[in-house]
Amino acid sequence: MDETTTIVIATRNPGKTTEIRDILKSYPVEIRNLNDFGPIPEVEEDGTTFDENAYKKASFAARVLGFPALADDSGLSVAALGGEPGIHSARFAGADADDEQRCRLLLEKLKSVSDRRAAFECVISIAIPTGQALTYEGRCEGVIAEKPAGKNGFGYDPVFFYPPAGQTFAQMPPEDKNRVSHRGRALAELGSEFDKVLKWISLQMPVVPKFPCKR
Ligand code: IMP
Repeated sequence: MDETTTIVIATRNPGKTTEIRDILKSYPVEIRNLNDFGPIPEVEEDGTTFDENAYKKASFAARVLGFPALADDSGLSVAALGGEPGIHSARFAGADADDEQRCRLLLEKLKSVSDRRAAFECVISIAIPTGQALTYEGRCEGVIAEKPAGKNGFGYDPVFFYPPAGQTFAQMPPEDKNRVSHRGRALAELGSEFDKVLKWISLQMPVVPKFPCKR
């Protein structure tokens, strides 16, 4: 395939955009994000699953902007809490709380709980303007530590202990975390068959015929 395909990452987060651009760098794609366009309405993440929220974000951006769009949704599921905070990970301790408060609340809820199994989950959706979409998933299992450790990363990284590394995600160098994380695994799966994704996009995208302009 020699034509370049534009894909919009439905985020304003430059870190996420860089990570995705890096994974897809060997393909003929131009990666943009929402900062490359004018204001568009925020999508309410009111789905009941990661899939639903990822699809909502990707399909809305694709329909509004007219390009294939990619979005992810992720969070932490804790076994002893019946899968919570899950899709509520970002607002677990209320809308105004910060990462430290969310970690503290999680540790408080797990005080004297011996089953500390947890998993980060990530769903990536790639949608085209007519609504069809492809989905990729990644999961990383670990345990919730007794207390926070490490300064790297964000969110629940200081309390997510990853047994194969013997460290929390916040203690691991970012490139090591990205190799095994839920998001890293979902992106790796997408990257491994990206040639098929590009073919799918070119078959599905509505073609606007070009015609010469007559005076
Ligand atoms: P989002 O899907 O990027 O909006 O992430 C939702 C929430 O899940 C974040 O606000 C974090 O609290 C949590 N989360 C997702 N991925 C990670 C991660 O890699 N490390 C720590 N927390 C994460």
